[in-house]
Amino acid sequence: MNRTMTALVALAIAVPATANTPSPRPTLEQAANNAGNYDPHAWDFVEGITTEVGQRQAGTEAEARGRAWAVQWLRTSGFQNVAVEPFMMPTWVPGEPGKAEIVSPFPQSLAIAPLGDSGSTGPEGITAEVVMFKTVAELQAAPEGSLKGKIAFVSNTMTRTQDGSQYGFAGPTRWVAAGIAASKAAVATVIKSVGTDSHRNPHTGGTDFPEGVKPTPVGALSNPDAANLERMFQRADGKPIMMKLVLTPRFLGQTESGNVVGEIVGRNPSLPPVLLACHLDSWWLGTGAIDDGAGCAIIAAAAKWVSVSGQPLRTIRVLLAGAEETGLFGSAAYSKAHINEPIAVGLESDFGADRIWRFESNFRTTNPDLHKRIASAVARFGVSPGTDAAPGGADLNVVRDQKGALVDLQQDGTRYFDLHHTPDDTLDKIDPAQLRQNVAVWTQVVGILANEETAILTGGVVPSAPSIMKDE
Ligand SMILES: [Zn+2]
Repeated sequence: MNRTMTALVALAIAVPATANTPSPRPTLEQAANNAGNYDPHAWDFVEGITTEVGQRQAGTEAEARGRAWAVQWLRTSGFQNVAVEPFMMPTWVPGEPGKAEIVSPFPQSLAIAPLGDSGSTGPEGITAEVVMFKTVAELQAAPEGSLKGKIAFVSNTMTRTQDGSQYGFAGPTRWVAAGIAASKAAVATVIKSVGTDSHRNPHTGGTDFPEGVKPTPVGALSNPDAANLERMFQRADGKPIMMKLVLTPRFLGQTESGNVVGEIVGRNPSLPPVLLACHLDSWWLGTGAIDDGAGCAIIAAAAKWVSVSGQPLRTIRVLLAGAEETGLFGSAAYSKAHINEPIAVGLESDFGADRIWRFESNFRTTNPDLHKRIASAVARFGVSPGTDAAPGGADLNVVRDQKGALVDLQQDGTRYFDLHHTPDDTLDKIDPAQLRQNVAVWTQVVGILANEETAILTGGVVPSAPSIMKDE
């Protein structure tokens, strides 16, 4: 920009709008651009909830404080019909910080955290020989009963990918290894963290025990500690590696959680709404900034920006789900309560706060005109269309149960699994510029969808919808 241009721009910014010339309402495109340039709302949300509430373990009083905080934020931000929809859930809490110690032949302690739904060793802990498996498949192949009295160690390595697809490869180590080991009579399981960093931070997360298998103690070792344990096996010369494990989580039985909902009411509230989802709960180790304070911040900010460009035709509803991490209880409860209320389209933000790079829908072939319009509208933000059918996120059960329309706005996941479910999930890891890019793309896409007059999945008429009210 040359000096004359700079001066002109400065002048244009400096001239205040007078009472006689009301500033024109921005178009949707302008609102999205403005969000990209200076959105304050998403940062305000995620900075606020991580500072004033912090971690929000599902089913606990901390999660309840998170709901109260979100209700207040939505109300003061102009959302209508803000409410908590409570539900009951089986609640697990982590207990005292976990301890893992190699007793012999190379005594030292390792950094560990229990996995969600882990059993307890009791405060005295257990000491047993460790048996190493490189993969879940190797563990699966171990003969029945061969792990009796032993601690199974599964050491599978995860690598970084932009689309996060490695989670599908590495995830089973966390999801099923403990259940398999327990069914082969292991007394406990430790895994290499399902994560891509090299910090001494264990990555927690949920695990599953099969029907009829009693939960055994299970913890994730940090990646460098798991690597250390692997080296011990190379140097042990056949000597048994003995570990003392102390994990003291507890099951609290049924406690209350809840979903928080709020709306930007549309001009025709009887049309099926656009549903934007995220989750409010987090694991206890960090403050739930990238997982998923940022997602709630992004969807709420985008809904606000769409309304700045004019009241949308359809209602935009935000669903800040409870208890996602420990078993999608909020998503299931929402679907059960609202299955008979058609949703026009569902979108979810739950993959951190880094930039959106790809867009997918499940109506590319049935409503190609809309898919193309969205694709061309987000190209200026560096987002390209993919060809897969969008599966929708974890908190969109209601849309999947209705076999409805889904849009996925995929974020760059390259560093997501460095931070995921660790003490490093904190506000300072959020890049404000990338957070604003998310809000800009969401504003553009949600604005298009919320003003769509025809059925989003098929492009056909909206079934049994009353005549559309005229824009005032
Ligand atoms: Zn999440």
